[in-house]
Amino acid sequence: MKTRIRILPFALLIISLLLTATVQRGNAVPTESARSSTTPSSQYDDPYVDFRNARYSNAGLLNEREEIKLGVQLHREVTKKYNLTDAGLARVERLGQRCARAGLRSNLSYKFHVIQSREINGFSLPGGQIYITTALLNMANDDELGGVLCHEVGHVVARHSLKTLKKSREYDDIANSLGELTGVAGSIARDLGVALGKMGGALMLTVHTREEEREADFLGVRSMPGASMDPQGMITMFQKLLKIEERDSDLLGSLFSDHPDAQERIENTRYEIARMRRR
Ligand SMILES: [Zn+2]
Repeated sequence: MKTRIRILPFALLIISLLLTATVQRGNAVPTESARSSTTPSSQYDDPYVDFRNARYSNAGLLNEREEIKLGVQLHREVTKKYNLTDAGLARVERLGQRCARAGLRSNLSYKFHVIQSREINGFSLPGGQIYITTALLNMANDDELGGVLCHEVGHVVARHSLKTLKKSREYDDIANSLGELTGVAGSIARDLGVALGKMGGALMLTVHTREEEREADFLGVRSMPGASMDPQGMITMFQKLLKIEERDSDLLGSLFSDHPDAQERIENTRYEIARMRRR
């Protein structure tokens, strides 16, 4: 179907990226001293131990101004591929802005969008552009939708797409064009479009590693109480997705179908909710 977010054509590219990703990643991994400061038992059980002491910034990546410009360019690409709709947008905007304000990057101005599609999916792009499909909206209550939105905000907080971009061969071309870019049209915008096309475009930046998904779950569930949402919503969302996966996995978008271990995500989220309640 036309609006389907397809990742197969990018599979080879992604595999090579993942291989380099595991070698190069290190920003979120705490130092030995930070690790040893946790108690032995929590260190052993804690699925999120690598993220507890992480600090997030654009250092070593595109700066924030360029990140926002890139997000605007990529959003144009998304609008050409998908049908955006106002249906449910007010609800997404209301919940999404609560996640944004409760997250670790509340200074950024986030933009929420709804895509008309029967596929259950959500994704984010640099600069705080966040997308949810109508199919996802229709199956989720506010806490469940909030769980997905706070998870997507988590990807933006941790700059996952920017880290993926940094590893692409077209990074220098893209960074140079963004530095010179002043509008959305003209020859520089065209050069940028060519470089982004070579890289695989917006979709390339929406594919994340398992570690990144875990980190976004962590950041998302942690921000839910501050967004006046019940973090339990993230768990019931995963449970609904598991049921749909058993019935008709074609309905699940890349956001969920890449991650067969929904059961593990449920257990990890449960762990974090119990931990938040203890404090
Ligand atoms: Zn994700």
